[in-house]
Amino acid sequence: MKKVSESIFVCANCGNEFSKWSGQCSACHEWNSLKEIKSLKSKNLNSKKRRGQETEIKNLGKIQSTPNPSFDKEGRYQNIFSTEIKEFDRVLGKGIVRGQVILFAGEPGIGKSTLLTQLIGKIGGLYVAAEETAEQIALRVERLGLDKNKFDILETNVVEEIEEIIERTNNVFKIVVVDSIQMVSCAESSGTPGSLAQIRESTFRLVEMAKKSGVAIFIVGHVTKEGDIAGPKMLEHMVDTVLYFEGEKDGELRILRVNKNRFGPTDEVGVFKMEEKGLREISSEEVSLIDSKMPQIGSTISVVMEGSRPLLVEIQALVTESFSQIPKRIFSGIDYNRGQLLVAVAQKVLSIPLYKEDVFVAVSGGIKISDPGVDLAVIGAIYSSYKDKIIMGEGDHKGSPVLIGEVSLLGKVRKVRMAERREREIKSLGMEMMKIENIGELKKV
Ligand SMILES: [Zn+2]
Repeated sequence: MKKVSESIFVCANCGNEFSKWSGQCSACHEWNSLKEIKSLKSKNLNSKKRRGQETEIKNLGKIQSTPNPSFDKEGRYQNIFSTEIKEFDRVLGKGIVRGQVILFAGEPGIGKSTLLTQLIGKIGGLYVAAEETAEQIALRVERLGLDKNKFDILETNVVEEIEEIIERTNNVFKIVVVDSIQMVSCAESSGTPGSLAQIRESTFRLVEMAKKSGVAIFIVGHVTKEGDIAGPKMLEHMVDTVLYFEGEKDGELRILRVNKNRFGPTDEVGVFKMEEKGLREISSEEVSLIDSKMPQIGSTISVVMEGSRPLLVEIQALVTESFSQIPKRIFSGIDYNRGQLLVAVAQKVLSIPLYKEDVFVAVSGGIKISDPGVDLAVIGAIYSSYKDKIIMGEGDHKGSPVLIGEVSLLGKVRKVRMAERREREIKSLGMEMMKIENIGELKKV
């Protein structure tokens, strides 16, 4: 194939590609987000044809579906194999599929390298150190108390070298971890490491390699606080699976979330706790994101669903007289606009003048909640703090009220998804849910 360098335009916001530049991305409608990339094989990118392969037609009658997906035809190793980390397996579906390419994204310092180091510590694999030295990884492996013999380290940031090693070792490795894609570059491609062009080209090479060799590749991608996720966003289109590793840096809790998955569900989460010996998986029963065991002013408890698993969370609110022209509204762990809306509903329906107050709301454990089932608990916590009184709960957990429900603009409490499952969870912990149909009823409790 003749190599032609041609330009394509990639949207830094959504990752879609275009052949022509325009001021606005026609996919996500963001302005000035298209960036030009000189690509060597842009035409080839979505083609299934691998380099060095003859084009052929396959008759379906002659194709054998693998009867036992645990082993491939040569019996080399399993087609789907376990990570030997329960939470990880659950998030991925059953485990890792041969040739699967997984983008492992998250903020720097959140523990991506730690978890992937632990993964290799369990099942063995090749660690491509593009950022660190082998010595630094050895230190981490020792600190985590893992078996050094499970690790093969390749110190490089050149994608061609990774290709060469995977080719040469021919299926010795079940998994390869590339840490991180922002540091990897392709000698044939233009641009500095970390640029869109380099990230795209390198990822393309890795995907091609995984499909050809059957090795599963984890690609670590940093997401920065400023929301500059241009790299990872574009990568999402290219890989089989996208995992996000989240949590507050100072908090101990980490959530592994799946955003896209060609081979499994996309609504499961894994929960881990960052400890001295690395990340420890946490069972459902153990997940209690409640900071204060004692009832407190400004505190409510709720149950949010993360995939099929209920999580008990504590919502804390602080409402204080404002001395600025525009009162402060700070929400951590819940969406800003949703928070604003809940403050407005509380002000109107509960007749409390929040326009004179600063309102701070936080979710314990540092997790981000998108489940609207937490609405009622947010309003309850705000009301409790404003009134400076404890809302009395029911059951054994007297004091901290368990509030679950989505709140409408008029203050009506709507039933949430998997309500029975949530109620079972709190019953099992000896607590009782408060039955409230309209947030106006909070005035009476
Ligand atoms: Zn776009």
